[in-house]
Amino acid sequence: MNSSNNKTTGIVFDTQRFSVHDGPGIRTIVFLKGCPLSCLWCCNPESQKMNPILIFQSSKCIGCGRCIGICEQGILKGQKEGFIESEKCIGCGKCIKVCPVDALMLKGQRRTVEDVINELKKDEIHYRRSGGGITISGGEPLSQPNFAIELLKECQSKGWHTAMETTGYAKPEVIESVIPHLDLVLLDIKSMDAEKSKKYTGVSIERIKENAQRIVQLTKTVVRVPTIPGFNATKQEIKEICNFVKTLQGVETIHLLPYHNFGESKYELLGMTYEMKYIEEIPKEEMEALKKVVEEQGFQCMIGG
Ligand code: SF4
Ligand code: SF4
Repeated sequence: MNSSNNKTTGIVFDTQRFSVHDGPGIRTIVFLKGCPLSCLWCCNPESQKMNPILIFQSSKCIGCGRCIGICEQGILKGQKEGFIESEKCIGCGKCIKVCPVDALMLKGQRRTVEDVINELKKDEIHYRRSGGGITISGGEPLSQPNFAIELLKECQSKGWHTAMETTGYAKPEVIESVIPHLDLVLLDIKSMDAEKSKKYTGVSIERIKENAQRIVQLTKTVVRVPTIPGFNATKQEIKEICNFVKTLQGVETIHLLPYHNFGESKYELLGMTYEMKYIEEIPKEEMEALKKVVEEQGFQCMIGG
C-alpha cells in the first residue's frame, strides 16, 4: 500500500486548472518553486529562487505605508524606493492583505500536500472522465523531492494520472526516489553542446544526459526540446539531439516547444534583466521544417506540448 504523509509541506507558486497540455486528459499543473538552472529564455523567472518572492508594482503604490507597519520581519522600509525582495521575507502574505491597491504580489506559498490535494479534488471528476490528473512543474520539481513524492503518492492512491515536467538536473538518488511515482516524465533536452548549454542554462549537460538514461529505465518518457533562436533552432542541432534520444530506450516521441517571450514583462517586476529581448519567435514554416527533421530520425513529433 502507498501510504503518504499529507502534512509534508512545499513551496508552490501557482496552480493551473483545466490544462489539456503537459500530459493526457484534463490536468491541473502544480508549479513548485526552486530551479538549479537559469535558462535565458525562462518564462517563469519567479520560479527560480526557492524562497517566496514579493513583487512590488511601484506604479500602483499610493504610499499609504500600511504594508510597512504590518510586516513583522521589518523588511518593508521605503515603498517608493523601488522593487522589494528580501531573503528575510517568510511569505506570510500579511502585507498583501492590507494593501488597498493590490500593489504587492507574492510568488510562492508554503502549502501542505493535504491543502494541494483538496484543491485538486475539485477536478477529480474531470480527471476520471478524461484520463487526466496532475502534472508537477516549476521551476524544477526535483528541487523539492520530499514534497513531490508525498504529493504524487497521494495522487496515485486516488487513481489520478501523474506527470512531471523536468530539466533532469538533480542528484541520481533524487531521480530514483521520485520517478517511480510518475506515470509520465516530460524531460527537457536542450542541446548536445556542452559549452553552449552551460552558457545559456547555467548547468552542465552531462548530468542531464546521465539522468536521462536513468529516467527512461523507470517510467514512460517524452523528450521535449525548447526550440530557441540563436541557441538550438537549427536542423543540425535538432538532429544531434535526436541522435542522443535514440540512445534512450523506449522514447518514441519528441515535442518541439517553440520559443516565446510571454515571460518578458515579469523580469522587470522582479528586477531581473531579460537577455532575450528583441529575439523574435520562430516562423511556423521553420518549426515545421525542424519537425520534419525529427520525424526523419524515426520519432513521432509534435510542435508544442
Ligand atoms: S509577505 Fe510577510 S514577511 Fe514578506 S514582506 Fe510581506 S509582511 Fe513581510
Ligand atoms: S500598502 Fe500598498 S499602497 Fe500602501 S505603501 Fe504598501 S504597497 Fe504602497
